[in-house]
Amino acid sequence: MQLTISNLNKTYSNGVHALKDVNLTINQGMFGLLGPNGAGKSSLMRTIATLQEPDSGSISLGNINVLTQKEEVRKTLGYLPQEFGVYPKVDAITLLNHLAVLKGITNTTERKSVVEALLHKTNLWGARKKNLGGYSGGMKQRFGIAQALLANPKLIIVDEPTAGLDPAERNRFLNLLSELGENTVVILSTHIVDDVKELCSDMAVFNKGEVLFKGSPDEALNAI
Ligand code: ADP
Ligand code: ADP
Repeated sequence: MQLTISNLNKTYSNGVHALKDVNLTINQGMFGLLGPNGAGKSSLMRTIATLQEPDSGSISLGNINVLTQKEEVRKTLGYLPQEFGVYPKVDAITLLNHLAVLKGITNTTERKSVVEALLHKTNLWGARKKNLGGYSGGMKQRFGIAQALLANPKLIIVDEPTAGLDPAERNRFLNLLSELGENTVVILSTHIVDDVKELCSDMAVFNKGEVLFKGSPDEALNAI
């Protein structure tokens, strides 16, 4: 599975040219998208996630045309936006069970095993009965991963995940992400160089809507 982005352009109605002829080929594993605030990272992530339309260009995920086969993409996409809402008065295991039903996992035995495995994987088993409103930032992020994994995604998009996490939470979150990267395309959008350096085999540097660099983190550091 490969994500291919070709000649992508987006100008917002306020005249901001947020994506300028973006071309990227992203393979399975962890891909870092690095750039300062305002670079266009979220615009690109939202476009790949079928949440907004580009003005021109194309995106394919394997043999799926992302811009026209939106339902196909959504079925296989795990999207973790920068800040996602949680229902504060529901506990993790209850919400995951409900979400699993919505994803079509209606068989009780299957659902139980899927939900329990995700809670263990994300290290939330001990807090499964705690209301999400009482979760720390890192726990919410890990719950976001559990939720994203319900879809059995081929593509996971993570937008600025480590902002506001303490170092221990950050490490736990990043380790979890790197495990996922093995047979999935994981795109990590961030302005933190270390996140990319530690985890990603491949990366791009973005600024003012343009790809300035494509390659490995080692090559990027040598180029500076
Ligand atoms: P990043 O995620 O790298 O911070 P964004 O994609 O959010 O970058 O923003 C890129 C540029 O596009 C910024 O100048 C931002 O203000 C602008 N922008 C983003 N979303 C919109 C929008 N919906 N309408 C108008 N301008 C936008
Ligand atoms: P980011 O995480 O990329 O910084 P923001 O928090 O700036 O995104 O954007 C939040 C929402 O506001 C998004 O839906 C985005 O499309 C919109 N937005 C961002 N920048 C602008 C802008 N300059 N003008 C209008 N809408 C914007």
